[in-house]
Amino acid sequence: MSDIESIILGNEKYAENFTSGNLPPHPSKKIAVLTCMDARISIKEVLGLKVGEAHIIRNAGGIVTDDALRSLIVSHELLGTEKIFIINHTECGMATFKDEDLQRRLSEKYKSDATDIKFHSFGDIEENVRNQIKKIRSSPFLSNITSVNGFIYDIRTGKIREVQ
Ligand SMILES: [Zn+2]
Repeated sequence: MSDIESIILGNEKYAENFTSGNLPPHPSKKIAVLTCMDARISIKEVLGLKVGEAHIIRNAGGIVTDDALRSLIVSHELLGTEKIFIINHTECGMATFKDEDLQRRLSEKYKSDATDIKFHSFGDIEENVRNQIKKIRSSPFLSNITSVNGFIYDIRTGKIREVQ
């Protein structure tokens, strides 16, 4: 079976028992989660969240980029979320390279300047989480957010721990 056939079949199975068609767009728990795109993290299951309860925003690293901020502002201002959770994780690929190295590699490989692309690679994971919290806290458009908490998800144990 091809990947396309596989996802179409997967969706058919999903739709057979689908009962969430009448949920409102506003997340019922007023939660927005920003986390990494890592394929090993099934974030709703990790946090015990059900469909309709939270916004999930994902990118490489779980970084408060301009685009993540855009989503968080829409989430808060238009859809009523009040609590933000930043979840980074152990063994994150974003801690395995430096921006300059990837920029150089891309520039050489594709013969096109990649030095403008900010990848937000990082070294220390706890420091990275704290930096993301600071970015949210410094946005005037998120100043009414009730709480911003940062966690590290352990890929090996499935547990999260809060970053102080
Ligand atoms: Zn990651």
